[in-house]
Amino acid sequence: MIGSHLCERLISTGHEVICVDNLITGRRANLKALLSHPGFHFVQHDVVLELPTFPRLHRVYHLASPASPIGYTRSPIETLRVNSEGTRRLLELAALHRARLLYTSTSEIYGDPLEHPQTEAYRGNVSCTGPRSMYDEAKRYGEALTMAYVRARHVDARIVRIFNTYGPRADADDGRLVGNLITQALTGRAMTIYGDGTQTRSLCYVSDTVEGLIQAMESARARGEVINLGNPDERTVLECARIVRDLIGSTSEFVFMPPAVGDDPKVRCPDIRKGQALLGWGPTVGIREGLTHTIAHFREVLGMGAVRDPQPSTNGTLASHSRRDRTPLRAPARAGDAPTRSS
Ligand code: UDP
Repeated sequence: MIGSHLCERLISTGHEVICVDNLITGRRANLKALLSHPGFHFVQHDVVLELPTFPRLHRVYHLASPASPIGYTRSPIETLRVNSEGTRRLLELAALHRARLLYTSTSEIYGDPLEHPQTEAYRGNVSCTGPRSMYDEAKRYGEALTMAYVRARHVDARIVRIFNTYGPRADADDGRLVGNLITQALTGRAMTIYGDGTQTRSLCYVSDTVEGLIQAMESARARGEVINLGNPDERTVLECARIVRDLIGSTSEFVFMPPAVGDDPKVRCPDIRKGQALLGWGPTVGIREGLTHTIAHFREVLGMGAVRDPQPSTNGTLASHSRRDRTPLRAPARAGDAPTRSS
């Protein structure tokens, strides 16, 4: 979801974008609108495998990974591989092209945090064998690898830790809070609250996250830095559910049940002072405004009212190069490098 909005922003500001995605958690049909744009190229490929030969690249945005608890639980080995082997390939790619790289890490690297809110200096409280370990530890390794390439190979890379992001084109089936609550409230079903609903999250609207990604990429001062990207407006899950129900005007009841994935963090809130100081970045979209846009998208998806929002969705890797470099893409280097797709 974040990748599709990033593509859209880069294309709308005149960049040429090569989007690489194995569609493990995305759908090709969602790319329709961007596929017809002359500056957008889609390559279905798994970045764990040998990469195609690209024209000169200037920026590599590495967003490739399942990111929802249900998504990475379904694909644990793919999640570990894309953040380790895939990250290494993309760092090598950035080194080859002398391109800047941005690695998207996650608030999950803080685990069930003992420091609150979480600053970038906090080292986290993570189980290396628990039910979320395939994601948490993969992202921690990805961060370590990125820093090793900054220090040992002088790659111009930076790391952002993305906190819970929501918005139009969120996957209705990935089991995440906002998608579940909106779909349930719109269809009059009971709204699922995991645990007692007192756990907190800080929801960031996708346009704010995308703005942070671009600013972190474009800032020379962000080289070798780790930056939290999120909205510090911390809410309990119950509060989020009440806001969604209120905005929709739904009468859905709340049903309390065990979390879909264990080790559910009890609190999560970013300290964003570093991003504010380094980039001048901060979120601008409030929770009611953001949820209103998101609800409009879900209404359309569910056939409950037309809202124009025809952009595609993907969660893959983006490599952008300037408008001047219009060299066409070449096919993957070897026939054996066919894209993979998990079931
Ligand atoms: N959650 C919930 N009901 C749902 C989906 C999620 O209560 O239908 C809770 C979940 O247990 C967690 C929070 O909402 O405490 C955010 O979950 P999500 O899967 O969106 O992302 P996470 O922050 O766990 O990566």
